[in-house]
Amino acid sequence: MFRALSARLFQGYRTNKFPAAAPALPERFRGRPVIAADAKLDPSCCPTGALGKDCLDMGRCIFCGNCSKCGVVFTKEYRLGAFDRSSLIVKQGEELPEVVVKKDTPMAKLCSKSLKIRQVSAGGCSACELDFNVLGTLAWDMGRLGIQVVASPRHADCLLVTGPVSKNMLTALKKTYDAMSEPKFVIANGACAISGGLFAGSDEICAPLDEIMKVDFYVPGCPPHPAVLLEALVRFKGGSAGAI
Ligand code: SF4
Ligand code: SF4
Repeated sequence: MFRALSARLFQGYRTNKFPAAAPALPERFRGRPVIAADAKLDPSCCPTGALGKDCLDMGRCIFCGNCSKCGVVFTKEYRLGAFDRSSLIVKQGEELPEVVVKKDTPMAKLCSKSLKIRQVSAGGCSACELDFNVLGTLAWDMGRLGIQVVASPRHADCLLVTGPVSKNMLTALKKTYDAMSEPKFVIANGACAISGGLFAGSDEICAPLDEIMKVDFYVPGCPPHPAVLLEALVRFKGGSAGAI
């Protein structure tokens, strides 16, 4: 007991200060892209079809950075989550948009103090799943913000889906959704869940998640960095980074 206490005193409080303070992002972190008005975009350089002639779809983007050579600039804006799919489209010449905090959504009204999440990997590569798991470690400790993972869909407010929806996982995903009680919400986490990502068009993939069930929030990335996802979850339940 004495050892445990002295170790605790020695180590101090290890959880990072985000979202009360800005997150410490790695130097190579790629956040929301902007496209200069005079950039000449070349869609052929994009492996996922995210890049158009005058726009970029963050829902399909894997943030590989390949399009940097034709004028796309990746900022450090980590607040990427969006309430609607169309907000993930970055138009050429557009500046960084204001981040929307909604306090009057059904999610905010019901889950502002406590958000219980059931996570389903519908065929992911494990990176999205691991970076979500990281939020449960002492470094991020999402439990201090009232966000917890639950084992049973019957205890969940929200279904967080990662990975492209593979044919093998479709039934399990639908059964999990059906087992949740109303009201229930869905978050599509990562390019694969949002659009199929790198696997879009594969015979083994069913469809983007929002063609299978109603999606309430989108978190782009491949995988979304833990700070991106935690900020998204906080905003999903009506809070904002720095002011929760
Ligand atoms: S960063 Fe995104 S838009 Fe650019 S090439 Fe890679 S996948 Fe395509
Ligand atoms: S979005 Fe990227 S990291 Fe997430 S499951 Fe798909 S390939 Fe893996």
